[in-house]
Amino acid sequence: MDCLSSFSCVTLLFSDSLIFPLYYSIVDIIHLLPDSVANQIAAGEVIQRPASCLKELVENSLDAGATHIHILIVDAGRTLLQVIDNGSGMSEMDARMAFERHATSKIKEAADLFSLRTMGFRGEALASICAVAHIEVTTRRKEDEIGTLLEIAGSQVLRQEPCQCSVGTNIKVKDLFYNVPVRRKFLKTDATELRNLIQEFYHIALVYPSVRFTFVNQDEVMMDLPEQTYKQRIEAIFGKSTAKPYSAQLIDVHVDTELVNVHGFVGKPENAGRNAHQYFFVNGRYMRHPYFHKAVMAAYSGMLPGELIPSYFIYFDIDPQLIDVNIHPTKTEIKFQDEQYIFQILVAAIREALGKFNITPSLDFNRENEIEMPLLSSTCSSSSFSNSSRSTLPHIVTDPTYNPFKTHQRNDADLSSWKKLYEPLIEPREVMEEQSPILFSSSLPIPIQYNDRYMLVPCEQGILIINQHRAHFTVLYHRLLSQMKAQKGIKQQVLFPEEWHVSADEQVILTSIEKDLNYVGFDIEQFAKTGYSITAIPAAFGERSALPVLKDIIRQVQDIGTSVQEGWQQRIALILAADMAIPYGKHLSDQEMTDLVSALLEIPNYSIAPDGKRTLFLLSDDEIKKRL
Ligand code: ADP
Ligand code: MG
Repeated sequence: MDCLSSFSCVTLLFSDSLIFPLYYSIVDIIHLLPDSVANQIAAGEVIQRPASCLKELVENSLDAGATHIHILIVDAGRTLLQVIDNGSGMSEMDARMAFERHATSKIKEAADLFSLRTMGFRGEALASICAVAHIEVTTRRKEDEIGTLLEIAGSQVLRQEPCQCSVGTNIKVKDLFYNVPVRRKFLKTDATELRNLIQEFYHIALVYPSVRFTFVNQDEVMMDLPEQTYKQRIEAIFGKSTAKPYSAQLIDVHVDTELVNVHGFVGKPENAGRNAHQYFFVNGRYMRHPYFHKAVMAAYSGMLPGELIPSYFIYFDIDPQLIDVNIHPTKTEIKFQDEQYIFQILVAAIREALGKFNITPSLDFNRENEIEMPLLSSTCSSSSFSNSSRSTLPHIVTDPTYNPFKTHQRNDADLSSWKKLYEPLIEPREVMEEQSPILFSSSLPIPIQYNDRYMLVPCEQGILIINQHRAHFTVLYHRLLSQMKAQKGIKQQVLFPEEWHVSADEQVILTSIEKDLNYVGFDIEQFAKTGYSITAIPAAFGERSALPVLKDIIRQVQDIGTSVQEGWQQRIALILAADMAIPYGKHLSDQEMTDLVSALLEIPNYSIAPDGKRTLFLLSDDEIKKRL
């Protein structure tokens, strides 16, 4: 391979050439897999869906130094995924080599793995993609007058010829998985795959604000992001759906230490929500890191009610030798060598940032849920976290026995309630006991309201004590579900329609569930590309703004996914019913109580609310007699 690499940047990591056929014996049992098969297997690891393909292509463009990346999607990437960049381009030889397995220009030997600064390094992506799709590439380096066109399908080169094209690379991936029907079949709906594509795009766009990105879906420009600062990029992506500038909700976090530099933003506690934007990046790469997530939550400890979570966008910059990105081909799990130190640095940095903005805990702040800060030496003020001090680390005395999980059960509890949000639907709990019918001597008597919270109803078996909020919640839930099943609902036109601006990923969800929102009573009319007006709301909704609940619905459906309609219908019913149910403390008229109780008792599982809690309790005749 040496002779090749002398005039080509791309080298083969191993010499198992896959486009050039291999010789194998027909007598022996063990043989090497043919190229196309081996590549298809590899593709299974690297390219699971259109989104992973997009990620690989865009990462290649970034590695090639592109400053403008143009993405085109047709049919959620099933028909076409195209990435055009103004990066370095490839020579004629490299263009061909790039599609070989383990062909890469990014590392030459094992040691290079430990000093990686590029996104790619395995030399697997293009070989995998070309095994499962039709590829058309044109590419040109600036020093070349003429570019190269290359066509490949199922690992076979169909055409390679000189062509006129601009500097950079233009790669079309057509008919993804055309030759792997099983994988094609396993793709989710277009809406889900498009959402995955957008998510993947966010992961990259948020960490490369200096690169201009355009994202075109079915000929429509969904996003056009100019060269920006980090904050502007976050605003451009997530700001559309908020009334106030999104960036006004963010607080800067910045700390440079010898071990790691951390910068980014965390959300103000008052803007914490049920679903927040939470992103970690390391050395220009998106990552998931549940342990560091705990660090962020720990920094907020005592400031947020259990179910609310803050947004964060945190960028780590660290010596590549201290992390291992080689864990999984999709590379979102990253192992850090000094996780415990970084945990403590992160907690301290966020606490400091929150403190600077004079944010005082809004909840009871007792010692129990106070977070242990890393022990800073007494002379170490917050300025030791500033840029000027490159030798911060020696000032931080860490406690080696420190275990954030052990000493802070409260945080774990917070986290588990956070996790609950991501669980699929809270299924109404199975009714434990046989639901015996409630009998009345004649008709239902008028209930008596007690403490503006319960309704007492004498019946043949004793006295029913019914929780008014849960009863109404249950009735509404079943009503809304059946409206969606029957595809009709009762609307109430609004005089002054509210305006709603959504982001691209929210729009995908909205389009999927719009019909069901109609059936529960909403009319949502599009008036601009991402602008909607809410012209009708459910009849029982009242005078309030419908926006918060609609946003909540979109967020929660986003979490559970849009693959199962029943799933999102239940979620819509759950959120709306909880929102519209009569609150505790509301005084009810006789008629309202009678209607509510009779509606409740018509539901087969009337004693269990959709969240699994009891709606009523029967104080039996026997029990009363025993005591009195
Ligand atoms: P890796 O990125 O891990 O090296 P890939 O299969 O993704 O492996 O790409 C193989 C090689 O092809 C890269 O190392 C790079 O030299 C070249 N290449 C791929 N895409 C581009 C691009 N958009 N511009 C320039 N070179 C590219
Ligand atoms: Mg790559």
